[in-house]
Amino acid sequence: MLLEIKNLAVQFGGIRAVDDVSFKIAQGEVFTIIGPNGAGKTTIFNLVSRIYQSTAGKIIFDGREITNSPAHRIANLGIARTFQNIELFENATVLQNLLLGRHPHRGGQGLLREMLFLSSVRRREQEHRLRVEEIIDFLELAHYRSTSISVLPYGVRKVVELGRALACEPRLLLLDEPSSGLNVEETEDMSFWIKDIRDELGVTVCMVEHDMTLVNGVSDRVLALNYGRVIAEGTPSVVQDNAEVIKAYLGE
Ligand code: ATP
Repeated sequence: MLLEIKNLAVQFGGIRAVDDVSFKIAQGEVFTIIGPNGAGKTTIFNLVSRIYQSTAGKIIFDGREITNSPAHRIANLGIARTFQNIELFENATVLQNLLLGRHPHRGGQGLLREMLFLSSVRRREQEHRLRVEEIIDFLELAHYRSTSISVLPYGVRKVVELGRALACEPRLLLLDEPSSGLNVEETEDMSFWIKDIRDELGVTVCMVEHDMTLVNGVSDRVLALNYGRVIAEGTPSVVQDNAEVIKAYLGE
């Protein structure tokens, strides 16, 4: 198993945002977490990427316990993520944002300056550029390579964010609502990217997603949460037909 979550829990004040959640993700799977608003989906991502500290349970990545690992080490271990609200450097180009993805634990304008002007760093930068150019080709971003993020359409920014997460060559990619803000056609494109990321790059994907067409199109297995607890797990169709899942979405 690439990722094992065992009896994970976190509490905020009186709210049990994640309550005794367990699941496993195998290498090469596309695994999707669904559930109504506030179910605890993003909180699970924040626990795995170590932004939040769990109050109970274990997180094991590739056989190594990371429950208490510092957040800045997570990318080096092979876990990358995207965010519900795109987090890119607005005034930098696509290329620069992807290069920053090679240094996920650092970043910012200081790093950018260092990478562009220090000759000692230039050689290493060439290696980074090579990898980033591969990603630009892979995600068909060549046309936007030198364009500032601030002028890009939203759909392209989402693809750049995917690219930035891929730039650190993760083994596990956490995608937080990859379809949010996208129209039907862009969502369809996103489903192709997700499949290609798994099939061609061999990256395991765990995503949080609301769009059931996208969920059905790409997921091997689905986990449904409600009030922080697991209410169903299985293939997309089995989970969607589950009575408790239907009830949770109807808000009863
Ligand atoms: P959505 O689909 O709306 O993004 P979600 O399933 O991702 O919802 P979470 O964002 O994980 O839900 O939130 C789960 C619960 O935990 C909510 O009640 C939320 O208000 C609470 N919560 C999350 N983070 C914090 C925090 N830092 N402090 C306090 N409460 C929090």
